[in-house]
Amino acid sequence: MKQNPKAFATLCGRIFRDTDPQYFPSAQHRRKKILLCTGACLGAFLADPDVFCKVHRNSDKAAARLKNEIEHLIGIWSTYDSSPKND
Ligand SMILES: [Zn+2]
Repeated sequence: MKQNPKAFATLCGRIFRDTDPQYFPSAQHRRKKILLCTGACLGAFLADPDVFCKVHRNSDKAAARLKNEIEHLIGIWSTYDSSPKND
């Protein structure tokens, strides 16, 4: 367990893994740091943060669930990776 696989969800509901969140556009919303997938998304968010959040609230939740599943899958994959079995 040296490396923790990274997975994160942007506010707009996209999932990224094995990527550093610092390379993505971010903004503050209600004292919470949020991430966007692209500059275009960030622009849409900044234009009207509340509307953007409302529209994406469901995808945000779905993304959070997906994120957990992906992290689980990554765990399984890395298990396969690290234990090559040759007969
Ligand atoms: Zn986006």
